[in-house]
Amino acid sequence: MHTTDPASESTPAAATPPPVTARETADSTRYWINGRLRPEQEATVPVTDHGLLYGDGVFEGIRFYGRRPFRLDAHLRRLADSCRAIRLTLPYTLDRLARAVAEIVDAFPADDGYLRLLVTRGAGPLGIDPSGCLRPNVILIAARLQMVDEAHRREGIRLVVAATRRLPGDALDPRIKSLNYLNQILARMEADHAGAQEAVLLNGQGRVAEASAENLFIVRDGTLLTPRTADGALEGITRGLVLELAARLGIPAREAPLTPYDLHTADECFLSGTGAGLIPVREVDGRPLHHCPGPLYSRLEAAFQEQVRRECGA
Ligand code: PMP
Repeated sequence: MHTTDPASESTPAAATPPPVTARETADSTRYWINGRLRPEQEATVPVTDHGLLYGDGVFEGIRFYGRRPFRLDAHLRRLADSCRAIRLTLPYTLDRLARAVAEIVDAFPADDGYLRLLVTRGAGPLGIDPSGCLRPNVILIAARLQMVDEAHRREGIRLVVAATRRLPGDALDPRIKSLNYLNQILARMEADHAGAQEAVLLNGQGRVAEASAENLFIVRDGTLLTPRTADGALEGITRGLVLELAARLGIPAREAPLTPYDLHTADECFLSGTGAGLIPVREVDGRPLHHCPGPLYSRLEAAFQEQVRRECGA
C-alpha cells in the first residue's frame, strides 16, 4: 500500500530533489511568451488556461544546431495543421513565429539546444467550452536537453510493448500533436516499471503504432519497415527524414502493418524523434535483437548527422 506522510508533504524544502530523466540546465533556459523574451519569474500563464485545465492546445519540439533550427518550416507547418485541426487560430503568422525562434535562439547561451513551441487555447471560464477563451498563449522555451544518455545511445535501449493502447485514430487523429500525452505517459510508466527505457504502443487492432514519444523502425532482411500513420503513428519529421535518407542510400523502405511478433523477430530496431534523434534498440520484451546498433541503423545515423551538418552547418 502506498502511504504518504502529510507532514513531509508540507515541507518541500527538506525533500530530496526528484530524479531527473531529461536533463535541463535551468539557468540556461530561455522563455518567449506572447511576443517577447521574459525572465523565468515572468514566464507564466494563468491557471485558467485551458491548456492546463484540459490539455487543449498543441506543440512542437524543435532542435537547433549551430544556432540554426533544423527543419523549422516542417515544424511550423505541422504546428499550423495541428492548430487548424483543433480550430485554434494562431495569433501570429508563421514568419513571425520563425522570427521568435530566431530571437530565443539568439538569446540562448549555447549554440545547440532544444525548443518547445506551444500554443494553448488560452485562459477562459471553467468548463471545456473553448468559446470563452479569447486569446491563445504562444510559448517558446529554449533548453539544453539530453533525452537519452550516451551509454544508451551507444549500446541501445530496452523496449516493452505496453498494455496501454494508442488512442484510436478515429477518436483522435494521431497527426494532431496535442498537449494531452496522458496515454503515452501511462505507457511510459509501464516501461519504467519493467526496467525498460521506452514503451511501444499498439493500436486497438494490436498493430504497432509508435513509441511513447518517438516513431519506430525495424529492419527485416535488409528492408526498413515503419508503422503506417493510419495505424496510429505521428507523422514524425525525423521519421520523414529517415525515409528520405533511406531512399538516397538505396535502402528499401516502406510503411507496413507491424505486430509485436515483427518487433520480437526483427534484425534491427530503432526509434526516431526530434528530442531523441535515432536511438538503437537492443531488446524488445526481453528478446535480444540480432544487431544493435545494426548496420542499417549505423548508415542511417551517419547520414542523419551529415544532413544536420549540411542544413545547419554545425
Ligand atoms: N511520436 C510522438 C507521439 C511524438 O511525440 C514525437 C515527437 N516527440 C514523435 C513521434 C517524433 O516526431 P518528430 O520526429 O517530428 O519529433
